[in-house]
Amino acid sequence: MADTRKLVILGSGSAGLTAAIYAARAQLQPIVISGSQRGGQLTLTTDVENFPGFPEGIQGPELMEIMRKQAERFDTDFIEEDATAVDFRTRPFEVTAAQKTLRAESVIIATGAGTNWLGLPNEQRLIGHGISSCAPCDAFFFRGKEVAVVGGGDSAMEEALVLTKFATKVTIIHRRDRFRASKIMAERALRHGKIEVLWNTVVVDVLGNGSVSGLRLRDVGTGREWPFRVDGLFVAIGHHPNTELFRGQVELDDQGYVVVREGTRTSVEGVFAAGDVHDHRYRQAVTAAAFGCMAAMDVERYLEGHSTH
Ligand code: NAP
Repeated sequence: MADTRKLVILGSGSAGLTAAIYAARAQLQPIVISGSQRGGQLTLTTDVENFPGFPEGIQGPELMEIMRKQAERFDTDFIEEDATAVDFRTRPFEVTAAQKTLRAESVIIATGAGTNWLGLPNEQRLIGHGISSCAPCDAFFFRGKEVAVVGGGDSAMEEALVLTKFATKVTIIHRRDRFRASKIMAERALRHGKIEVLWNTVVVDVLGNGSVSGLRLRDVGTGREWPFRVDGLFVAIGHHPNTELFRGQVELDDQGYVVVREGTRTSVEGVFAAGDVHDHRYRQAVTAAAFGCMAAMDVERYLEGHSTH
């Protein structure tokens, strides 16, 4: 067991990197286990227009890259892998990543959230073969084709709008008769000439052998089912917290989000949580960053009372 760190940060999205910037400036020399999806969910998006400080907007991946540079400037180390195990019952805590176990006086959990899939019979088989959850990553492959987006939130609107740059027609399939999305995003989608909406409709299954050739849809009011021809399906129905690793180690709520009290404190003293891993209410890049800042400040205060060196 080579290293004992003052602080290990799990996750490298907006929350984790902001925590790193604050902790590094407080001379805690944090190490960030950045995870296989380095940069978190913002790397799966394009234009970010609501992060303060960028009047013309900024691309999500670029925003994460400059946050990372800022953390590196103040002495932050990175391990570019997923953490595979944690032990919060011992002191110092133990975190395993890249076949190495780190010891840590404090930990910030900032592992964010991942895509929810629909759970359809042929869904998993066709992910990457016409099914995607990331239009900015995959829209290019649907140039000149017809695609569908499932969901009624901001993510679904954003996916649909990105897809209009490539696809000839984008159909949003939503299970209710109104969108959950913010007014501005919903109006942008509804006004777009290439976007159509199927209200009160759910996807029953995805059709296609090697790749997606269509969907089986159902009208939730009448129960009528029919085949619907598309070349691609984008699933945008929300996310779940990435907390499997922490089950039995810190208190989670019934949906699996980390329970925090008094700022960013978890049920284990010395373990803190920041961002979408505990926040299912706001879920914004800027709120995740704010929680990252709070977590680093909470760690600093905690270590003042507990640090062994
Ligand atoms: P969301 O707001 O939770 O919306 C999920 C949508 O998927 C809802 O419309 C929901 O339908 C539908 N849905 C859920 N489960 C479903 C199922 N099994 N089958 C069919 N439909 C299902 O999630 P989100 O759109 O990912 O947004 C998450 C957060 O990120 C929000 O706070 C959002 O504002 C934010 N966000 C912001 C931006 C931006 O500002 N540019 C972009 C993306 C996301 P119901 O409406 O019937 O519940």
